[in-house]
Amino acid sequence: MSGPSAPSVPPVPPYGPYREDCPWCGSRRLRARPGGDGPRQGAPHRSALVRCHDCRHVFRNPPLTPGPERPVVRAGVRLKHGRAARAMVRRCPEPESWLDVGTGDADFPLTARTYFPYTSFDGLDPTPRVLRARAVERVEEAFVGRLTDHHIAVRLRERYDVVSLFQYLERVADPRAELRGALRVLRPGGHLLVDVPDPRRLSPVHPVGLSAELVAQGCTVLTGTRGHRVIARKDASAP
Ligand SMILES: [Zn+2]
Repeated sequence: MSGPSAPSVPPVPPYGPYREDCPWCGSRRLRARPGGDGPRQGAPHRSALVRCHDCRHVFRNPPLTPGPERPVVRAGVRLKHGRAARAMVRRCPEPESWLDVGTGDADFPLTARTYFPYTSFDGLDPTPRVLRARAVERVEEAFVGRLTDHHIAVRLRERYDVVSLFQYLERVADPRAELRGALRVLRPGGHLLVDVPDPRRLSPVHPVGLSAELVAQGCTVLTGTRGHRVIARKDASAP
């Protein structure tokens, strides 16, 4: 064989379809996040953070398809992971089992291990990257899929002491369903850690926001309304 004969694979488009409505509440009143460059329908090379006017959910539009993070995004991530892990140490110092959702290459478990040397970290991701993460022992068990997949929900039901979601809900088509899925794999009394891009969406004046949803699902929210991080405990009486 001579010459470059490898079959050409069409490149995966970096973005999903542009959304006209909020994935959290369905409102169509979407606005560019202040300081951002706004929704750009028909602009294939840009994905902007937009905020729902009604519930203040912040998400990427069009959503990024799963893949390696851009270098600029990756830069501050390790610091953020360390801060989040330390915040969880204070509330839940010795979890046995932890699921990191949307874990990608399992960067968070790698950092969190420093603070939780006796915890077993598993990873869930829609891409096979999580399998590679297991191969290099960043996670103990790897699951390819989503919290909303039936086989994942059944297999992992009430299994974890901690479930973490970093910059995940703003990337998925149905964040409310994913959040409920996260609570299902958490054991009663377990802790949920959610990293959010815009703390204003947590304001109690927005009854359809994340905190309200967590309370409605039988959780106690342990963090204030001003941080980028939400820690909640699933109460024993939660459904
Ligand atoms: Zn909304």
